[in-house]
Amino acid sequence: MPSIYVAVLADYTNGYHHGKWIDATTSVEEINEEIDKLLRTSKYPNVARQDFHCPSCHKEWHRDLPITHVDHDCPHCLHYGNAINEPYPSAEEFAIHDYTDFFDLDLGEYPSIKAVFEAASGIATNGEIYAHLRSDGFDHDKALDEIDDNFRGIYDKLSDYVYELAEDSGDLKNIPDYIKDHIDWDDVARDMEINNLRTYKMETRDVAVFINR
Ligand SMILES: [Zn+2]
Repeated sequence: MPSIYVAVLADYTNGYHHGKWIDATTSVEEINEEIDKLLRTSKYPNVARQDFHCPSCHKEWHRDLPITHVDHDCPHCLHYGNAINEPYPSAEEFAIHDYTDFFDLDLGEYPSIKAVFEAASGIATNGEIYAHLRSDGFDHDKALDEIDDNFRGIYDKLSDYVYELAEDSGDLKNIPDYIKDHIDWDDVARDMEINNLRTYKMETRDVAVFINR
């Protein structure tokens, strides 16, 4: 399951390692809640924080002291919200110091939580191929489109895909075996890869095949 290791910067800069692993596939709200809980347990709090609740849409949010009038406004529906606790000490800043099950996708130390959740859910749903596309420059939506439209499967080697393609197309029907047996499928595959295909080497060393439009 794609997870992030969140470290509290106030503790880190004081030479103390304080952090935890958080499941990144839940939701933006839940990931933020887990981070807030972690920040509250810092040994080096640097803000006083208060939680608010919206009586209209039932969302919760927090604000740091000093609280002013506008801090009561619900960020979702702008209804006037109520403080639900006394101010409590908390650390303010965090960084993501490690990722697990994100394959080679590198989001850095300070991505938005939305970006983290998108990537994690993309991987949870589509697996390693999603991570390859993202590392290759596709944004989240484009990666999902690419998988829907152009993904052709995962093969032991690219020539297996090319042979299957030729066979399914019926092009091999009229070629006698004494010729067919001598076709260099690796060579055909190399040629197609240059012009018509995008491939990614999987961790298993299998190859993921996409067609290039
Ligand atoms: Zn609201």
